[in-house]
Amino acid sequence: MKYSITEKSKKDDEKIVRISLSDDATPSYVSGSKKKRRRRESVKREWKFVILALVLILSIIMGSVIRVNNAVDYITYDDIKGFNNLSAVITDRFDQLIYEDGSVNNYKIFGNLIGQGESIENSLINKHSDKLMSDDINPLLGYRSLETESRIMKTTLLSEESQQELADLFKKKNGCCFAYNYETGEVYTAFSLPQFNPNQQNSEYINRCLNSVYIPGSTMKIITSILAVAQGKENKKYKCEGSYTLSSGKVIDCTGYHGKISFTEAIGKSCNCYFAQLIMSLDLDESLELLNQLGFSVNNKKLPTVKMDELSRKNSAVEMTNLSSFNNIWGLIGQGKSRVNPIHMAQVAAAVVNGGKAAEPHFITSITNPNKTKPEKQIIHTATTKYTEFMSPELAEDTAEYWKKAVDNHYDLKGMSDRITYAKTGTAQVEINGRLRENKLLLGVIESSKTAFYIVVENSSSAPQIFSIANKLSELLPTN
Ligand SMILES: [Zn+2]
Repeated sequence: MKYSITEKSKKDDEKIVRISLSDDATPSYVSGSKKKRRRRESVKREWKFVILALVLILSIIMGSVIRVNNAVDYITYDDIKGFNNLSAVITDRFDQLIYEDGSVNNYKIFGNLIGQGESIENSLINKHSDKLMSDDINPLLGYRSLETESRIMKTTLLSEESQQELADLFKKKNGCCFAYNYETGEVYTAFSLPQFNPNQQNSEYINRCLNSVYIPGSTMKIITSILAVAQGKENKKYKCEGSYTLSSGKVIDCTGYHGKISFTEAIGKSCNCYFAQLIMSLDLDESLELLNQLGFSVNNKKLPTVKMDELSRKNSAVEMTNLSSFNNIWGLIGQGKSRVNPIHMAQVAAAVVNGGKAAEPHFITSITNPNKTKPEKQIIHTATTKYTEFMSPELAEDTAEYWKKAVDNHYDLKGMSDRITYAKTGTAQVEINGRLRENKLLLGVIESSKTAFYIVVENSSSAPQIFSIANKLSELLPTN
């Protein structure tokens, strides 16, 4: 049985073999064909492997090339800051270092403008890090630069010592001081208090010259004067009896009892009653058009952001729909909803004394890369002077004449330096945390230095303080 089963099994096997033989000719032929097929399959597999390997190698090469090419993008400001001997340097206008080794030498004076890495978004370091950073990257050692010398940003700013003298006169008050040359556009100072503290980052540490708008107080009367001269409304005299009652019953208070006074006297004495009556005589449409030309955002109209060396500054704004309404009159006198930016106001004042146009302010004289051998390749950025035309030369000249007369006849008692040729003071009432505070403001021009300035001392009741700052500024400026 056992045998037979085996036999059967053998037979079955033979059957199977036979069946397979009947399918595939002779047994010797079968084994040769399998070998060839295996070889063919193995060759196919090898090719697949080679292609896969090539794809892998190509990917690695391409990835590496892309990474090396973009290496500079991976470098953060902190990496650059880490290269003590390679980090960029920033100088004042006299080539004295104001920023080195990744930090500002005097944060009180330069911090809010120069910045600290990315902690102040609207700052020179943050906006120009691409130009200050080395892009000559060593592809093997990653972000280690091949540049051996620091790139240099030369600014237009006055020396640290000069600006410290000005800041000290703020006597721990907050505020800002902006001054620039309206012929070249060079900014001499744009410091802002409170000072930026790199160890205590806070959104309050913005540069107030750039990022703030203030209630202008009577510095707004210079803008209103331009409107009045443009419309030939400056020749009439108006009476001041200490206050002026509008038809609505609302009262505009004055700082004094000025009697019947002229336009020039009204500017010099800053008479609110005169200006209230003057504003009511203005044409609304003409006024709106000129305010627009002067660079104001009128009735919430959105204006393009103004850039200074890629730093943005806020726009001044007025609201005006009816020149007989208390709110609109109050706005053009300098309270109400009017808000001005210090840099913009300095520009408009500059245009008044400079034939209607003023240079656009800039902070940077040049950015250079001393690692390049050819001098022309060393220059990454150089300043160019551009002008903005705010008004016609005739309007500027006429307004300047009235303003000058007002200053010459009425500002002699205020302890103002003779160097300051044009000035307009302002006091703005501001409510802070439910308490009424006063900001002191001063708009002016120092013609011998072709300089226009705007100074704000916040929460100050002292007018002499703001003049002491302006007087000191006039001593520190370069004369042309
Ligand atoms: Zn008055």
